[in-house]
Amino acid sequence: MWRAVANVLLRTKVPRGRACSLPPAHKGRTLLAGTTRHRAAPGLRAAWPLSMSPGIRKVEALDAGHLVRVEWEDGSESRYPCVWLRDNCQCPHCFLHSARARKLLFEDLDVNIVVKEVSLADRKKISITWPDEHASEYGAEWLKKRCFSEEARAEMREALFLPEHQYWGSDLQLPKMPFEEIMYNDESAYKWLCTLKKVGIVILTGAAARQGELIKLGHRIGFLRLTFYGPTWQVQDKADANNVAYTTGKLCFHTDYPVLQHPPGVQFLHCIKQTATGGETEVVDGFHACNKLKEKNPQAYQVLSSIAVDYTDVGRDYCDFAVQCKQRIIDVDSRGQAVRINYNNATRDTVFDITAEKVRPFYAALKEFNDLLNSAELKFTHKLKPGDIMTFDNWRVLHGRQSYPSGSGVTRHLEGAYADWDVVMSRLRLLRKKILNRD
Ligand SMILES: [Zn+2]
Repeated sequence: MWRAVANVLLRTKVPRGRACSLPPAHKGRTLLAGTTRHRAAPGLRAAWPLSMSPGIRKVEALDAGHLVRVEWEDGSESRYPCVWLRDNCQCPHCFLHSARARKLLFEDLDVNIVVKEVSLADRKKISITWPDEHASEYGAEWLKKRCFSEEARAEMREALFLPEHQYWGSDLQLPKMPFEEIMYNDESAYKWLCTLKKVGIVILTGAAARQGELIKLGHRIGFLRLTFYGPTWQVQDKADANNVAYTTGKLCFHTDYPVLQHPPGVQFLHCIKQTATGGETEVVDGFHACNKLKEKNPQAYQVLSSIAVDYTDVGRDYCDFAVQCKQRIIDVDSRGQAVRINYNNATRDTVFDITAEKVRPFYAALKEFNDLLNSAELKFTHKLKPGDIMTFDNWRVLHGRQSYPSGSGVTRHLEGAYADWDVVMSRLRLLRKKILNRD
């Protein structure tokens, strides 16, 4: 229902039928390109659950007072454990509204608590009296959002985290949006971030071909992620390069900075100057490749998602550094689904902290994965133009570049920067709230 309401809200601006989602990446020729202004963003359908929850018909205590059952006017029901209700009392003694945080101390919570009395204050609110006479009230909308049913939790999860991915291969219809639009229009900025989360890559077009645009982009979302290479960094051919990116050589598919414990979630690459020949950018959907690998060679997937690789980065830039880290090439969640790729062949250490017998199986597995990444079916090639800013999910999308001839002076120049997903998702939620005019 929340979804339906969001669509109704959008319908004033959005062509019917487009409000729900982006077309699949392999269909539709203009993924956000061109006429983006009034097209719905994919995440709007996952809009923050809206008001209009049904009223409450009946409320009762069950399970000897350990559970409260709410019956809604639409006939559905929700069940709330009393320990959770007491823990989440919204009264000023238990909850600091200015910080939107719990004041109640855990040691003051009776984890075996039962209700003394529960009643329906009106159809929009329930009241509970606890054995110590403390009184709590809970609004219908507040309760509905926090319903423990599988369906309600999935809806809340989707609204908070936009977990859905749209996988792509060489058939990617590269999402593009004007830089100016996302800088000054909240709906466009929201669409940008939703697409970045869902597809993993968006090109912002028409930025000025000079340094400094990424600093502005950083202010737009909140702030950039500082690393040992500085707040932003210049990808160009440099004498005595302290990074393989700062040469004219080919870069094979990699994610940036797996040598950090928490690698940057989002990367920005702003093309300031482009070489006439070579220097094409290659990208591949790492999560899609992981699914393929799991299907094709589960053993290789198992190896890459269990063996930790040593990474190293030693040098001097923003300051001097000697960074070391252990990362699995494929980080997986409890269901074995890839959640982050940590693969950079340049900074993979010569030190390899595994037993000798495991070394060859590891290389064989990595070869399988690397071949998949480079398969014609999966990789996508694109040459950035001056003014393009490639924004992408550095936990999911691997990138590389083709070599280019070295010349006199700088023939190719990209400025790069990072942001954390926490910052990006925070901005996305705030933009959505603003657009939908919700608290
Ligand atoms: Zn209270």
